[in-house]
Amino acid sequence: MHVAAIIAAGGRGTRFGSGRPKQLLEIGGKSLLARSVDAFARCASVNELVVVLPPDLVSRPRDYLHSVGKPVRIVAGGRRRQDSVANGFGAVAAAADLIVIHDAARPFVSDALISRTIEAGWRFGAAIAAVPASDTVKQAADRPADDEPRPVARTLAREHIYLAQTPQAFRRDILSEALALAATGAEATDEATLVERAGHQVRLVDGEPANIKITTPEDLRLAEAILARGDGLPARTGRVGTGYDLHRLVPGRPLVLGGVTIPSDRGALGHSDADVVCHAVTDAILGAACLGDIGRHFPDSDERWRGASSLDLLRRTAALAADHGYEVGNVDVTIILETPRIRDHVEAMREAVAAALGIEVARVSIKGKTNEGMDAIGRGEAIVAHAIALVRRRG
Ligand code: MG
Repeated sequence: MHVAAIIAAGGRGTRFGSGRPKQLLEIGGKSLLARSVDAFARCASVNELVVVLPPDLVSRPRDYLHSVGKPVRIVAGGRRRQDSVANGFGAVAAAADLIVIHDAARPFVSDALISRTIEAGWRFGAAIAAVPASDTVKQAADRPADDEPRPVARTLAREHIYLAQTPQAFRRDILSEALALAATGAEATDEATLVERAGHQVRLVDGEPANIKITTPEDLRLAEAILARGDGLPARTGRVGTGYDLHRLVPGRPLVLGGVTIPSDRGALGHSDADVVCHAVTDAILGAACLGDIGRHFPDSDERWRGASSLDLLRRTAALAADHGYEVGNVDVTIILETPRIRDHVEAMREAVAAALGIEVARVSIKGKTNEGMDAIGRGEAIVAHAIALVRRRG
């Protein structure tokens, strides 16, 4: 069986009231369109994709549409939904014997739901994802007067009410017949309606409550909450972590701070370059991502890390956080040191730390303080750095 997926993103999302086409709105840093396309690109049952976009977006398709690992054709939508789907249908491969249609405004469609809709569509000719109504369903009568609420005409038996979702899967001949019939008919809000009108039976496959359709700004907020289920935080909420490091100061050692060697008659004692700035920032990022601490990932006892550049460890830490789905938002560091003054070196340190983290310099702050002559730091016997880092989940 050769399966073509049509991703319907031809509408303008006028109900949304946003200046941007709805399908390009982002949740967790990734557009609705990209999420829907990825779901079908990942699904092993799907052989090719046809993406239907508004005509003005067809000429400048997003780069990712060409790197999904399956053949993708991009076509312009039409005036009505069925016109858009008909345009998409015109672009599927001749070999396609099953067409699965999905609304790009449903970004959370699961692999399992796509697969079972395809299976049922192949077996019965036409199948759609749908969820049973959980609220009692009232059919309303016409409004008697403009300033009055509508009366209930009757209550429908809920056990027979299902709310249609997408995906919707059809054998090629059935969809072809329905679209031909629709070319002259009224607008239909889904393809199954057209198939029913053409006299075919459509089967219901268990949909998923999370497979919501993003129609309003409230839906977008709900979508952020669904995305966040992984760690209980909304996707745009950051996680913070703190880091602290202290090294003794001794004569005859270089003083390396934030990857920058600072002229000094003494430096920090340690196995590596003993860079308290990098060590504190590393711990802050690991803490924010809940990934343990510097000693766990880069133990002194491991020859690989003996004498390692602390900037390099910082780079590896950012990569580790990225592997766990986090990007660094910003970091702020306070260095406590009696002498020398670090003011003239702060910019160089910010640049080096930002480069290691792969973020803009404006997201790295470094400040210096003395300890007013008090305790070991005040006597010049030690140096301390405190850091705080914010990480965010990546889309
Ligand atoms: Mg250290």
